[in-house]
Amino acid sequence: MSRPRVPVRIEAEVLFRAGHTCCVCRTKGKEVQIHHIDGNPSNNTLDNLAVVCLDCHSRVTGTRGLGRSYSRVEVRKYKRSWDQQVQYSRHVHHPRITYRKELITQIDLIVCEILACPPRDSRVKVLLDMLYEIFLWRGNREITRKIIEGLNHMAVMSGIGTTPIAPLVAEKLWDMCSQYVGPETVPMDKQDTLEVLRCIDALNILAEYNCEFGRGKSAVQPIAGHAERFFEVGLWYSKKRIADTVLNGYEKALKSCYSSKRIVFGFGRTTLRKSVRKLQNLLSAQRPGWSKERIRLKKLLAI
Ligand SMILES: [Zn+2]
Repeated sequence: MSRPRVPVRIEAEVLFRAGHTCCVCRTKGKEVQIHHIDGNPSNNTLDNLAVVCLDCHSRVTGTRGLGRSYSRVEVRKYKRSWDQQVQYSRHVHHPRITYRKELITQIDLIVCEILACPPRDSRVKVLLDMLYEIFLWRGNREITRKIIEGLNHMAVMSGIGTTPIAPLVAEKLWDMCSQYVGPETVPMDKQDTLEVLRCIDALNILAEYNCEFGRGKSAVQPIAGHAERFFEVGLWYSKKRIADTVLNGYEKALKSCYSSKRIVFGFGRTTLRKSVRKLQNLLSAQRPGWSKERIRLKKLLAI
């Protein structure tokens, strides 16, 4: 049976984003292939397709050599950081001023439209993807900030609104942040760190408001899952500020599980505590010397 082909339009987009160059070795002019990161040949989403040369392809699939093959997470990181570098090199992140103003207005409109969507409207996902595309292809600092501000606004509303958008917003915050997180070889500069911190602040609001209003599994679990990933970013890069900002969110969220005087939001509390224990394991494995953070985690379990 022949494997299903990647649709031509998607293939062209993937190759264009990668500048027709292998995202792992980044050697120009080599012959390239499209690799399905998750190993599923029918998953043709943009996020799952990486451009690799023939040499690197055997390394990512682990079919040759004795060395360890690249993990999926690694390949995804290479892809993201490379796509971003190609994008920067094309200078698409510096649109002219009038155009920028137009984009800012568009972002506002999209945010309003998301907030006005009726419950479980599939348009929410489409609109969030639109915001993300604007960020990816036109996102200078001003536009990025505007989009994160929009996500922040949605985070506040997700606690009281009827539309269960919290998991989608959490996912987008992570997607945005992951653009700044490369393989260790790609440094995270001061500005990048600030954007990551802004994403975490929005995630913290999401956690706090959803716990305060006792949202179920659909919200708290994915929020905690993404918070763990953000925490890990702090550990990888040895940036205490990132880890501490994540912990601020846990503290507020755990406290807000008790905000209703009569009923404790038990599911939220249990989920967050489980997540705190995961953070403890990550911390002791990766940064055993961070004693302040260790103490803070212990205190969180006492809330
Ligand atoms: Zn290569």
